[in-house]
Amino acid sequence: MKKQYHRSITMQALEAHFNPEALETAVAANLGQDAWWYQFGHDHFHYDNNSFAAGNAYLDQLRRSVVEALGRGEALPARQLFGRLTHTAQDFYAHSNYITLWRESHPEAVPEEVDPLLAALITSPRLCSGRIYYPLEAFSFLPALKPYVVPLLPRDSHAWMNLDDPSRPGFDCAHAAAVKRTKLEFERICQELCPEQIQLWTGLQNPKA
Ligand SMILES: [Zn+2]
Repeated sequence: MKKQYHRSITMQALEAHFNPEALETAVAANLGQDAWWYQFGHDHFHYDNNSFAAGNAYLDQLRRSVVEALGRGEALPARQLFGRLTHTAQDFYAHSNYITLWRESHPEAVPEEVDPLLAALITSPRLCSGRIYYPLEAFSFLPALKPYVVPLLPRDSHAWMNLDDPSRPGFDCAHAAAVKRTKLEFERICQELCPEQIQLWTGLQNPKA
């Protein structure tokens, strides 16, 4: 996903649940996952190159780390860890063909109806994510070169498969699924926490968890 959409997804999903400062910390950590040095050797941050097992394990590790940080009374790292988690959870919909498969099986549905965790699709043998064909793929990120480079890349490349921005078919569904998934990730972690820890994490006196 492009930066502005990671931001809009995270804000939309969480603004009712976090105070502005806590939310901004989470958003900054989310966007930090797309730093250039995390674009190499960190496929699992973005579910690139079919890194589903590693991506899922990374999410598990981050969920545990958020709970552990709050167990130690540390709000800032908990917010940062959760921000990182939201990035990977959101990239699943932009970088895999989950949304393509969902639209195929729900041709009449509107984006708001998307189910972000349909078991039949999550476990489908057809589930795959875009491969990054470096070095050529790197040039597809430069707007001036993109039209020349993309036709040279295979159809299973990130350049062909991504739903990173509204120019891509199904982006609305990917955005809606990512908002829902981000909320679900918040609720899932809340189940592991006591009310005081939720308060510490969210910065809200009466969090609606
Ligand atoms: Zn990413």
